[in-house]
Amino acid sequence: MNKVNYSKELEKRIVEFQKKNEVPKLLLHACCAPCSSHCLEYLREYFDVTVFFYNPNITESEEYYKRVAEEKRLIEAYNRQVDAQDFEGMHSGERARKIGIIEGEYDVKQYLDVVRGLEDVPEGGERCRKCFELRLRETAEIAAKEGFEYFTTTLTISPLKNADVLNEVGAQAAEYVNGKMGADGRKVVFLPSDFKKKEGYKRSIELSQMFGLYRQDYCGCGFSKAERERQKAETE
Ligand code: SF4
Repeated sequence: MNKVNYSKELEKRIVEFQKKNEVPKLLLHACCAPCSSHCLEYLREYFDVTVFFYNPNITESEEYYKRVAEEKRLIEAYNRQVDAQDFEGMHSGERARKIGIIEGEYDVKQYLDVVRGLEDVPEGGERCRKCFELRLRETAEIAAKEGFEYFTTTLTISPLKNADVLNEVGAQAAEYVNGKMGADGRKVVFLPSDFKKKEGYKRSIELSQMFGLYRQDYCGCGFSKAERERQKAETE
C-alpha cells in the first residue's frame, strides 16, 4: 500500500482554498513554541489561525507554565510582525495574519487516567496514541464549539512522532465529534499534515534560535523525561 504524503495532502487543500479565495478558520493544537514556530510561519499565510494550547500530558506544572509562556511570547512576536509589516528573515510575508490563542484546561489527571497501565511503554507506542487521542479529541470539541471549520496539530513536526498515527487519530477525533453533533450540527474537518516535511523540522530549529525559544529535550510526560534521562546516562 502506498504511504500517504500528508504534507502534499495539505498543500492540495490550500490550493483549493486559494482558488476559491477562502481563508478558513483553523484551530491549531500546539504542543510547544518550538514546534509551533514553523507551523505558524507557514499556516498564517493561508488560514485565520488560533492556537489551542491543551497539554495535560506535561506532568510537571513548572514545565507546563514555562511552555505556555513561550507559546504566548512567540505568538506576540509574530503578531508584532503583522502590525509592523516587518517580515525580515521570515518565510512568510504581507499575506500573514495575526494569530489568536485559547488555553485549554490544565488537569494532569485527565492525562494520567487515559494512559493508566501504559506508563512503561516506550515513547512512540500505545501510551502516545492514547495521549494524542485525548489532545486531538479535545481540540475537535473546542473547534466545533467555537465555530472553527478546521483543526490540526503541530505534533506532526516531530521526527519522533508517527505522522500516520497522528493523522488517523485526528480524523477519528473529527468523526467522533461530528457524530455527537448529529446530522444538522456544524461539521469540523481534520486537516492532514506532516509539518516535518519540506525541511519543516529544520526550519523550526532555525526559528527557535531566531526567537531564543526555550527548547525542552523531552516530549512532555514524566515517563518521557525519565526515558530521555536514561538514554543520556547510557551515552555518557
Ligand atoms: S511521550 Fe509525549 S506523546 Fe507520548 S505519552 Fe508522553 S507526552 Fe504523550
